[in-house]
Amino acid sequence: MADKKIILTESQMPRHWYNIVADMPNPPAPPIDATTNQPVDPAKLERIFAPQLVQQEMSSERYIEIPEEVFDVYRLWRPSPLIRATALEKALGTPAKIYYKYEGGSYAGSHKPNTAIPQVYYNKLNGIKRLCTETGAGQWGTSMAFACNHFGIEAVIYMVKVSYYQKPYRKAMMEMWGGKVIPSPSEFTAAGRAVLAEDPDSNGSLGCAISEAVEDTLTREDTRYCLGSVLNHVALHQTIVGEESLRQLEMAGDYPDVVIGCAGGGSNLAGIAFPFIRENIRGNLKTRIVAVEPTACPTMTKGVYDYDFGDVARMTPKMKMYTLGHRFMPAGIHAGGLRYHGMSPLVSQLYHEGYMEAVAYHQLECFEAAALFVRTEAILPAPESSHAIRGAIVEALKAKESGEAKVILFNLSGHGHFDIASYDKYFQGELVAYEHPEAEIQRALGKM
Ligand SMILES: *Cc1c(COP(=O)(O)O)cnc(C)c1O
Repeated sequence: MADKKIILTESQMPRHWYNIVADMPNPPAPPIDATTNQPVDPAKLERIFAPQLVQQEMSSERYIEIPEEVFDVYRLWRPSPLIRATALEKALGTPAKIYYKYEGGSYAGSHKPNTAIPQVYYNKLNGIKRLCTETGAGQWGTSMAFACNHFGIEAVIYMVKVSYYQKPYRKAMMEMWGGKVIPSPSEFTAAGRAVLAEDPDSNGSLGCAISEAVEDTLTREDTRYCLGSVLNHVALHQTIVGEESLRQLEMAGDYPDVVIGCAGGGSNLAGIAFPFIRENIRGNLKTRIVAVEPTACPTMTKGVYDYDFGDVARMTPKMKMYTLGHRFMPAGIHAGGLRYHGMSPLVSQLYHEGYMEAVAYHQLECFEAAALFVRTEAILPAPESSHAIRGAIVEALKAKESGEAKVILFNLSGHGHFDIASYDKYFQGELVAYEHPEAEIQRALGKM
């Protein structure tokens, strides 16, 4: 019987992150400073981000060594297991082999500590005392609270208001690790007050919470800002996921025909996929890469590829990316996560240039996939991750139809232990197959 779990030892772990910029045929489109319409001056970014991270953001070096202090924290739960979804395969009656990389075993419950740890570490090296960030569903805030607690830095977390009230246990988890959590939009910042003036009952959005966190950062010299997705250095840190997966599949004697990740800002997808895109480019291989997003926030499948701001108050540089417009407000009815209006510029460019595909599914299809997964493989997935599960099931059923013994790999980016309320709604039949209306998309894009 083949192994169910493929486990690396610590000494077999990769000691570097992989920077896909080194292998992209076209250089990435640079971020633009909206005040000058010129590429952003890196020195300006250093008021917001640690200089080491700015350097990684702009780097085209292929491999970047993981610092010893970061590796030492990774070791708490890494290497993460690669698991063969034998029970799911059986339930589907597919000849395909389905593997998933399980990132929910981190202490914050998702892939996000892979980047929170190095981000906090580099800030610590520079003597920073306080880090501001935003969080949507709470996964990123939890990861930052965990990492800041480890390195002895204060974490200030602007949490999208609808999640703050819907996910009190995420908030409590952040507070357990010493984080300070503020519901956004708040009265503490001009950006928050502006949104509240327009709509006092605003649910908040990631774009607004980013504006608040950046504004707060700029008011204090001892403070810097961290972002949990989208940026090049975040994608870089996440490649540990794909590098481990490559080694694990080699141990299993398999190679994937398709690699799947859910896509919010693009970081867990980048993490699992970029090393395989490297193999495609350098080794002339043909592994398909599939990004899965919700129809409630269809950034890649329905958005435009253009320069846009990362936040609603237009404080960030403009990035060339797939976007629904920085004024996009996700519907409160959507319970599946992945609500950001933009997409990693690297993921966007690779998609635009044909190195990956994108599909969108309704939340009901994704919750249904999650329900099948928990009843077969027994892990309760994060609603975000359930999009990747849906993607893998669709591929496995296609393989069943064609009778091909495909190898499918997907990233199970996190567990859903804090998302029980959403699952409860699903089982009570309170969720609908929501699709963000085309007219709303056009309206938000019109305000770009
Ligand atoms: C944040 C999050 C995502 C979405 O973010 P990406 O940057 O697209 O990876 C997906 N899954 C989980 C579990 C998350 O916490």
